[in-house]
Amino acid sequence: MQPSFKLVDEKTGRYLPLIYPEELPFWEAARKRELKLQRCGSCGRTWYPIGPACSHCFSMKWDWALMSGRGTLHNYVIYHKAWTKWFEQRVPYAVIQVELEEGPRLTTNLLGCDLKDIRIGMAVEAAYEDVTDEITLVQFRPARR
Ligand SMILES: [Zn+2]
Repeated sequence: MQPSFKLVDEKTGRYLPLIYPEELPFWEAARKRELKLQRCGSCGRTWYPIGPACSHCFSMKWDWALMSGRGTLHNYVIYHKAWTKWFEQRVPYAVIQVELEEGPRLTTNLLGCDLKDIRIGMAVEAAYEDVTDEITLVQFRPARR
């Protein structure tokens, strides 16, 4: 996988994430349907967004660690307006913040859930959405446990 600075997929018109070199392990894991974040070798905590040092103790000693993919819906908003043409097929949709079991919060989408059934505190798990041949987004869905 290569870094990607392409803003829009020409085939679909969908906006794409910018993928910086230091983020490649995250995106390569997502392609394999895994969620990996940085884990500190000094304090043992994980963080997001991706950065050069632990956001808790500033240690530069860290590694990529596999997350459980389980979390709790911490907060959400429902978008009714399609800000780009591609989103016309998607609205209304939920943008959520998930608090992972390991601690970090991710801003993502909730898939496979009627909007009326969304509840703060509900259990969610990682789901993966292929958006191009190279890029897979980490999304979430209601937990199946
Ligand atoms: Zn640390």
